[in-house]
Amino acid sequence: MTNIGNEVKSMNTRVVHGCKGYDPQTGAISIPIYQSATFRHPGLYQSTGYDYSRLQNPTREELENTIAALENGRYGLAFSTGMAAVSAVVHLFSPGDHIIVSDDLYGGTYRLFEEIYSKYGLEFSYVDTSNPDEIIKALKVNSKAFFIETPSNPMMKVADIRAISKLAKERGMLHIVDNTFLTPYYQRPLELGADIVLHSGTKYLGGHNDTLAGLVVVNDDILSEKLKFTQKSEGAVLAPFDSWLILRGIKTLAVRMERQQQNAIQIANWLKTQKNVLKVFYVGLPEHEGYEISKAQASGFGAMISFYVRDKTLVEQVLERVKVIIFAESLGGVESLITYPAVQTHAAIPEEIRNKLGVTDTLLRLSVGIEDVNDLLADLEQSLA
Ligand SMILES: *Cc1c(COP(=O)(O)O)cnc(C)c1O
Repeated sequence: MTNIGNEVKSMNTRVVHGCKGYDPQTGAISIPIYQSATFRHPGLYQSTGYDYSRLQNPTREELENTIAALENGRYGLAFSTGMAAVSAVVHLFSPGDHIIVSDDLYGGTYRLFEEIYSKYGLEFSYVDTSNPDEIIKALKVNSKAFFIETPSNPMMKVADIRAISKLAKERGMLHIVDNTFLTPYYQRPLELGADIVLHSGTKYLGGHNDTLAGLVVVNDDILSEKLKFTQKSEGAVLAPFDSWLILRGIKTLAVRMERQQQNAIQIANWLKTQKNVLKVFYVGLPEHEGYEISKAQASGFGAMISFYVRDKTLVEQVLERVKVIIFAESLGGVESLITYPAVQTHAAIPEEIRNKLGVTDTLLRLSVGIEDVNDLLADLEQSLA
């Protein structure tokens, strides 16, 4: 399925070359944008392999094969957004099925589960998936899957992917991992036993805050067939141009992730020394509760940091004063972004639950970009002073 992917082991090389590495027809180094809705049939009962772009498109196909190769999986699927990818995965289940979900997760996923799919008879339990006892306690006879984020959003809790995959296998359940925060560059859940990996490609994979995308990777033939069926039937496919933008983003994934992580480590350590910062959540700090598990299942810690400031007035001050860092939702791009989860990404989660999780009105989340770290530190210093 992959040209480069199978032969070259290094991620640094694999991200640059993707699956095919070039367009076999013309030699173009950049895979062309096949901006065509439909494809001419050579004759009756004949197909070039492409019939209609909702079913398959050569540009999207290269992205799908590339993400599959990077996650070390067999099948990739590209959707119009991360939420469309999550939604397609939920279609694998039937009314009456129960899914155990990380309690600290992307607010949009929570909203999709609670406001839409629970109406159709699916049941969701939200538990701290970094705590094995809580996972066991949540199991029911109708439990069909685990849906986890690790590190979680925004509290950066780390779940043990191997342990949950093992439990899922024993119980005939599926293990679904949202791998948006670490990307296959740092973490490959399928290699650790998970069944389904998904991404908001909008974030690190695209990397430039210019495109929305969702990606899913699986190994199993039947899961792949079912997901492809949903993809073509519902039609939330990624457009050719957007597929090309994500492919282009992936080429620099390795250098971006390295630089972003390097900046994040410095910033997390600096934040710890600030009198106006009460607590820092970054997986790469050795005192982080999930540090050891993280080292055992991922080759890096990523570049997402959350922190509590002393009081709510400081939140307003920081969001008003930042100049280099941009006050905006989203994460993973080259630009550093600061978010106020309680009112932005996690507004869909009821206040009582948010406070229990720690997503309070003094929590800020920072997605560290690739800028000069000294400029980022100076910006944080003047805004926190
Ligand atoms: C952004 C995000 C999503 C949703 O993706 P969209 O591309 O915005 O639809 C899902 N999961 C995580 C962890 C995210 O950060």
